[in-house]
Amino acid sequence: MRLFSRFKKRLSYLKPKQIEQIRQAFLFAEQKHHDQKRSSGESYITHPIAVAIILADMHMDPDSISAALLHDVIEDTPIEKTEIKKKFGKTVAELVDGVTKLTKMQFSTLAEAQAESFRKMVMAMSHDIRVILIKLADRLHNMRTMESLPIYKQHRIAKETLDIYAPIANRIGIHDLYIDLESLSFAVLYPRRHAVIQNAVQKARGNRKEIINTITKEIKKRFSKSALKKVEIFGREKHIYSIYKKMLRKHLSLSEIMDVYGFRIIVKNFDDCYRALGVIHSIYKPVPGRFKDYIAIPKLNGYQSLHTTLIGPQGLPIEIQIRTDKMEQIASKGIAAHWLYKTGEKFSEAHIRAQQWINDLLEMQQKTGSSLEFIENVKTDLFPEEIYVFTPKGGIMELPRGSTAIDFAYAVHTAIGNTCVAAKIDRQFAPLSTILTSGQTVAITTSPGSRPNPAWLHFVRTGKARSGIRHFLKNQQQAELITLGEQLLLNSFAELSVSFNKITKNAINKVLTEFKIEDLNGLFKEIGLGNRSPLFVAHQLINATKAKLVTKERKEPLLIQGTEGIAVNLAHCCHPIPGDTIISLMVKGRGLMVHREQCEKISRLRKQPEKFILARWADDIKEKFVAILKIDMSSRLGSFAALTKAIADCEANIDNITIIERTGAHYVTKVVINVRNKTQVEKVLNKLNSLSIVTKAIRV
Ligand code: MN
Repeated sequence: MRLFSRFKKRLSYLKPKQIEQIRQAFLFAEQKHHDQKRSSGESYITHPIAVAIILADMHMDPDSISAALLHDVIEDTPIEKTEIKKKFGKTVAELVDGVTKLTKMQFSTLAEAQAESFRKMVMAMSHDIRVILIKLADRLHNMRTMESLPIYKQHRIAKETLDIYAPIANRIGIHDLYIDLESLSFAVLYPRRHAVIQNAVQKARGNRKEIINTITKEIKKRFSKSALKKVEIFGREKHIYSIYKKMLRKHLSLSEIMDVYGFRIIVKNFDDCYRALGVIHSIYKPVPGRFKDYIAIPKLNGYQSLHTTLIGPQGLPIEIQIRTDKMEQIASKGIAAHWLYKTGEKFSEAHIRAQQWINDLLEMQQKTGSSLEFIENVKTDLFPEEIYVFTPKGGIMELPRGSTAIDFAYAVHTAIGNTCVAAKIDRQFAPLSTILTSGQTVAITTSPGSRPNPAWLHFVRTGKARSGIRHFLKNQQQAELITLGEQLLLNSFAELSVSFNKITKNAINKVLTEFKIEDLNGLFKEIGLGNRSPLFVAHQLINATKAKLVTKERKEPLLIQGTEGIAVNLAHCCHPIPGDTIISLMVKGRGLMVHREQCEKISRLRKQPEKFILARWADDIKEKFVAILKIDMSSRLGSFAALTKAIADCEANIDNITIIERTGAHYVTKVVINVRNKTQVEKVLNKLNSLSIVTKAIRV
């Protein structure tokens, strides 16, 4: 009974009749738990009381407080739900039952195995949102009193708290609980990091105090001169875990974070928030782009406040939050503030939003066929930094926000990433660079001959994709350069009517030493890169061999495989494709550049034919190439549809369509298509020229 009299003081906000109901619940729980002890050795009843106190301090309703006192009796004693219902009514019984169901679930992570339990969890809390509040208070007290548990258990509970319960507390807007749960879990999971940061925060406190006082005085002075009366100002300190997260996320040092000063200003009403902002901005200069109006547009969990960052004395950044007392209560207590501010039957905004979230979850779980899909949707909600997409077989991939189809391909397997050529997102073809969103099903098409494109590096998001592409290109580049260099050198030998086979090993070694190159492949690479002239190298090798070497060698053209890479470049001025007569030349440091024979850009080089390298297309090219068409056409209803259909009928892909000129009902358009070879382009052109809407279609 002594226990209860201390507890009773926290219930002063309730009516005597309500307190009596709570006393009955206390007596019942104390009696049922009387022979039980906590792992710390204390009598068990201290735990339900502590949970009830957490809720009482949030000014929760008497049913919630009673249920908190009774929350472990179904789980730990032979008592059943019906008995609680008879004694304390339906609501209390449902709440206790809901909490019991949650307690039975264990989540080590939000992985696939727990999908089903998580679904049940949402079901349990959907009935009455107070269930999750009681559960969160229960978890908070357990986190506070877990020293006597074995370390592995502490870790499991802390991880579950960090992964599941803290995000839920945040999502339903109970900021105070959320921060406590996070900090306690962080201290258990990363004791050393926690200690280091805590130490630094304590050390900095002295210096900070002085600065905070100066700024507070300055602000107060200004407010006293303004029409705003009732203004409260607090210096804020960052929480240890949020400092740690900031260090990780923004790659800031501890001191950089500690150098930011936070203040909160509480005013009387809504209008005063904006007036206070005006006063603040007249004292210190605001940092552009940092003002946020969460009053007009509240956060998802109902949070409301004005945020601004200022440049304070000595250039120190000052972060200011301005809100009303009620907004402050909602920010720290979330849906729990509803009971505090209960006015008639109207629910608070935060409560409505939290209930809406739960309702959405319920609806989602009814709509989605698999529990996996459901949990991924929930995760998207709780952890907005990640997205969840599906493989065609229903597997789940977790990717960071901003990931593309290519990131997905690499996440499945590096080999898939390296050979991916197309993506289908929700059964529709989409560019590989498409940014994915949660819930999409992604299928990747691969082609054995294809390879990563260096341009992918501009848009991939994950480290796995980035390193996969880089690694492949590096290996590929080496191999390609070696092959190209070798071919170029052999060509030069042919030009000089000498067989490379006649060159002695000694001669090769002599030349390599002279050039300070390690081996023959290194020499080929240098030639492939255009850093050494193959003709010059051939001369050196012939001279070093010191024998009469001239024979009759036939000059072979260089084979162009079609894959554009580092050593072979298809010129972007004329876009050569298989079937075109081509001309190639070496560009220093870049390798071989392939042009169409009629390309204007190389016409001025025609006087120096020795620069050209004889080349022809390989026979079995499977790549797709860019061809640019210019189409004069009349614009009628459906012209563009007819145009695209004609191109699609020839199995060519359209990359882009732009209108370059437009005179009345006449258009000149530029169409970029992907084709296999010249024959296919000709087929497309024939088809287009046969359309009545097309005046003339040509390849540029
Ligand atoms: Mn408990």
